[in-house]
Amino acid sequence: MAMRFPFTEDTLGKKLEAGTGLSVDCLTCRRHAILDIAELVKRLGPDQRCMHHDLINVLFCHECRAAGRDDRNLHFTNHAKTPDRRWTPCP
Ligand SMILES: [Zn+2]
Repeated sequence: MAMRFPFTEDTLGKKLEAGTGLSVDCLTCRRHAILDIAELVKRLGPDQRCMHHDLINVLFCHECRAAGRDDRNLHFTNHAKTPDRRWTPCP
């Protein structure tokens, strides 16, 4: 497999293929979550762009929306690898 430079995946499909991760911080309620890229691809499609200004249009903080607070005060962080996806050797 060719080496990839990190953080160049501009769509969810590319991120899924590259195995890179994305997390989100809600600056209103300080909630932090690791986004499930595979689930987002299912919901939004692989061609959904994943730059900040793209994601802010499709994602919001459910807790803040339920509470009537600013629900798009989000900060996204790219990760070289999905934090919860660990490489495990074959048995
Ligand atoms: Zn929130």
